[in-house]
Amino acid sequence: MVNTPYGGSLKISMDLGNEEKHIASLKGMTPVKPFIDFYYDSLKLADGSYSPLEGFMNEEELEGVLKRKAMPNDLPWTIPIIFTLDASANDKVTAGEQIALLDQNERPYGIMDVETKFVLNKKQVAQDVYGTLDPRHPNVQDIFEKYGDYAISGRVRIFRVPELPGGGYEKHPSEIREEFARRGWKNVVAYQARNPPHVAHEYLQKVSLELPGIDGLFIHLVIGRLKKGDYKANVILDTYDALLKNYHRPEKTLMGSLSITMRYAGPRASIFLAIVRRNYGATHYIIGRDQAGVGNYYDPYAAQRIFDELDIGIIPLKFKETFYCKKCRGITSESVCPHGMEDRMIISQTKIREMLKSGQEIPQEIIRPEVAKILENGDVLNE
Ligand SMILES: [Zn+2]
Repeated sequence: MVNTPYGGSLKISMDLGNEEKHIASLKGMTPVKPFIDFYYDSLKLADGSYSPLEGFMNEEELEGVLKRKAMPNDLPWTIPIIFTLDASANDKVTAGEQIALLDQNERPYGIMDVETKFVLNKKQVAQDVYGTLDPRHPNVQDIFEKYGDYAISGRVRIFRVPELPGGGYEKHPSEIREEFARRGWKNVVAYQARNPPHVAHEYLQKVSLELPGIDGLFIHLVIGRLKKGDYKANVILDTYDALLKNYHRPEKTLMGSLSITMRYAGPRASIFLAIVRRNYGATHYIIGRDQAGVGNYYDPYAAQRIFDELDIGIIPLKFKETFYCKKCRGITSESVCPHGMEDRMIISQTKIREMLKSGQEIPQEIIRPEVAKILENGDVLNE
């Protein structure tokens, strides 16, 4: 058996295939097009990815997440799942009513039962979750510039799954669990990524696969909303596809996409992302250096240490920084390589992006040629 869902069972709230009937039932409801972060979250609430959450958080739940990193029943939870209204919707929506949810093309896909409505303390959310009020932090900027002043809580039901950036790679937890069962996998290690793969990433994936008892590797790519300078979703998918085809055993690896907005909250995000992977069935979870970090806001190993504080029923695989060492003549890590800094080739995503922009060739020690070929095509970054 793969891992049990977080909190015990998958909380699924989808009734697909009866679209006409559902659309007829929307009559009289206020139509609301959620901000894209909440739109993605509504779909993941409905398909069980965020189990045991069944809806957007109310004030008490939010307070627990901010102050105690836990739900009211003390189950650890670290990232707020909230839904705010923009000024135009705010006047129309009141607690106790149902609203019709519209996708990014303004087409209805679900219903939300609005249970409560409350003023969002944006400063508190930004400070507690992201540890900063700095508007240069991408999520903090969103909170202040894109989120509305009022949040609504309540359950979501969806009757249609709109096209997502992951396309055919976007699967519900139940579908991935079925695939694990079909393959006979019991112990599954999940790998979180949001960028094209370096050889150093491949190393972590393979070291994890070498652990006794591990049946398979689930590479789960966060490819939701794009910011300026992010790799395009198809580039992340294509580069991973090339890595899997050329450098991984197909019977030991499975790749999927997770179309959500990345929370660059360091340790809090790492716990959240691991909870989601547990819902997909993962028993183990890889955490490299500075997972879910951005800039220098978080200690690079805080995302590993938080797993000592919070038990979410998944085994964290913690790795030190990995790099190419000229003396070892291969990818290695701070844990095992005895050589000095001067022998290491550490090339960050930022540096690779700069090299791509200026048309430099990316060294094969860092990026596989099949991956580099895709990156060197140009037009890989969001403008
Ligand atoms: Zn070395």
